Amino acid sequence: MPRWSKDRVALVGDACSAVSLMAGQGASLGMAGGFVLADQLARAGSVDTAVAAYERMWRPVVEEKRR
Ligand SMILES: Cc1cc2nc3c(=O)[nH]c(=O)nc-3n(C[C@H](O)[C@H](O)[C@H](O)COP(=O)(O)OP(=O)(O)OC[C@H]3O[C@@H](n4cnc5c(N)ncnc54)[C@H](O)[C@@H]3O)c2cc1C
Repeated sequence: MPRWSKDRVALVGDACSAVSLMAGQGASLGMAGGFVLADQLARAGSVDTAVAAYERMWRPVVEEKRR
């Protein structure tokens, strides 16, 4: 999907980062992605900024695992 968030709703885990069973890292990616989102929410001044930073940081990691 083109974006992982809309307004104050953001996707984590398999909803945005499901990988093939052969990769065997879906749970790890889900937990780590949740950590990145929580960390950005704690640091950022707004939810919009936090969810944008989360996707900017985490999406390339997920896409690399998918490849
Ligand atoms: C056979 C198999 C083996 C796997 N092996 C590994 C492994 O070795 N290592 C690894 O890291 N990952 C593995 N995975 C992947 C891992 O299980 C998933 O990536 C991980 O569970 C995703 O977590 P999640 O919280 O995003 O989604 P889920 O665990 O799917 O949780 C989503 C939850 O939402 C609930 N739900 C759905 N719809 C609604 C609704 N409308 N309202 C309320 N609740 C709803 C569901 O009941 C579910 O509890 C495996 C997966 C499978 C199927």
